[in-house]
Amino acid sequence: MSRYDVTIIGSGPGGYVAAIRCAQLGMKTALIEKYSTLGGTCLNVGCIPSKALLDSSEHFYNAAHTFKEHGIDIPAPKVNFSQMIKRKQGVVDQTTAGIDYLMKKNKIDVHTGHGAFVDRNTISITPAKGKATTIETDKVIIATGSKPISLPFAQIDKKRIISSTEALSLESLPKSMTIIGGGVIGLELGSVYARLGVKVSVFEYMDRLIPTMDKTLSKELEKSLKKIGMEFYLNHSVKDVKGTATSTTLTAEDKAGKKVTVKADYCLVAVGRRPYTDQLGLDKVGVKMDDRGRVETDEHLQTNVPGVYAIGDVVKGAMLAHKAEEEGIFVAEQLAGQKPHINYLLIPGVVYTWPEVAAVGYTEEQLKEKGIAYKVGSFPFKASGRARASMDTDGLVKVLADKETDEILGVHMIGPRTADMIAEAVVAMEFRASAEDIARMSHAHPTYTESFKEAALAATENRALHI
Ligand code: FAD
Ligand code: NAD
Repeated sequence: MSRYDVTIIGSGPGGYVAAIRCAQLGMKTALIEKYSTLGGTCLNVGCIPSKALLDSSEHFYNAAHTFKEHGIDIPAPKVNFSQMIKRKQGVVDQTTAGIDYLMKKNKIDVHTGHGAFVDRNTISITPAKGKATTIETDKVIIATGSKPISLPFAQIDKKRIISSTEALSLESLPKSMTIIGGGVIGLELGSVYARLGVKVSVFEYMDRLIPTMDKTLSKELEKSLKKIGMEFYLNHSVKDVKGTATSTTLTAEDKAGKKVTVKADYCLVAVGRRPYTDQLGLDKVGVKMDDRGRVETDEHLQTNVPGVYAIGDVVKGAMLAHKAEEEGIFVAEQLAGQKPHINYLLIPGVVYTWPEVAAVGYTEEQLKEKGIAYKVGSFPFKASGRARASMDTDGLVKVLADKETDEILGVHMIGPRTADMIAEAVVAMEFRASAEDIARMSHAHPTYTESFKEAALAATENRALHI
């Protein structure tokens, strides 16, 4: 029987990154994954395929709607949907193959099969076909991720009532789609289909889209997405979804009890994800879970069972790939006797719509709730020469800084390439920069990043230059 220093169950961005870091630190490492490809939700049915389709659909949308203004006359473009899906799968395949390579390079033993605790130091691996085997291990990292949540009145049947997984691999382009949930998945995948000409109607029971982000971003995003034809039913609670072999019928009600019924080819359920610990044998070792089904951990990401750790979507906190990665590294370095640190406030959140939405730190709503006195500086992209050149003038950058000390407390952006721009705000906040620090740094001209500098100038002494 093989014996390892550490065994990681689940090969998503949490698990495979933890495995690499453990191996780099000299541990004999095993990685268990039940599927035949590595990379978990993110690489197979999450971050990577959704971004591939977002890029393809954005090209199509621009060819159809903005090329003319740029002085490029082409015949009306047509969607070759099967090619779009094929390209997306090619990107996924290349990316997951890259993880195979990384596992070999780092001499990590990959075991394919369902992993489950036999006891604290013994893990069984049951492959899809064939007999189960067991391995011995000193430490275990649970990185089993999450699965889409279904609703009792809108049960995902994977045919017409679908989750993001099916929405990333439809066989043909539908004419219409209803979406339950105006969060990240609903708006990213809704954008993909709306850009391709599908009638998309989003039902959200809160009073705004992306309700956990700063309110300014919700409002700006709603305006922009309406321009590509997306329809929003905010403050609506979905009561029922019926699916037939060819269509779906969704019924929802607003706060006043007024009913609306929308028929569509597909209904995408995007109301969040649940931690995944099915048949993991946690009961055999007595690992505690919280009331939301997440594996409970302490500040070291250790469970109540010594030597058993948990990271990523299966534990509390944002369900994000880069959060899972940081936690994987954190646990690996602790196992090697180091003293790593994660600042959860500075894990950025991004929505890859167009315009892109990106944020880090506190929202205005949170600062108000905490009673922290703050100042606001904002700068709209319509005042940016770079944004005018590329015709991406929707959106703004908002900097929130401490009223007394000028320390940056939050940065909220919606606009072109803000997914990349937010990194500067993370660096600034990690080093506890003031708004004036950013305002005094040279930003290349013309770039979108100048808008961050301008918003910082606005926050410093209301002295933005270009507005
Ligand atoms: P996962 O990636 O879920 O991996 C867990 C792995 O464990 C899976 O491969 C699973 O098969 C395996 N597993 C589970 N149980 C067992 C077992 N008992 N034995 C063996 N293997 C097991 N996040 C971002 O940061 N940016 C994005 O752009 C983004 N886009 C997304 C788009 C979509 C459509 C979705 C659904 C999610 C997206 N996310 C994004 C979220 C991101 O995918 C997750 O936060 C991330 O994958 C979590 O990583 P993880 O390692 O915790 O778990
Ligand atoms: P989410 O939590 O982002 O959004 C779910 C939305 O559904 C919320 O706005 C919520 O108010 C709404 N909702 C819940 N129940 C509802 C109901 N019955 N009727 C109407 N609305 C309802 O969840 P998601 O979009 O499913 O994404 C799941 C996870 O995946 C998120 O935690 C997210 O972080 C991650 N993800 C990240 C990215 C990214 O980083 N770009 C992309 C996709 C997914």
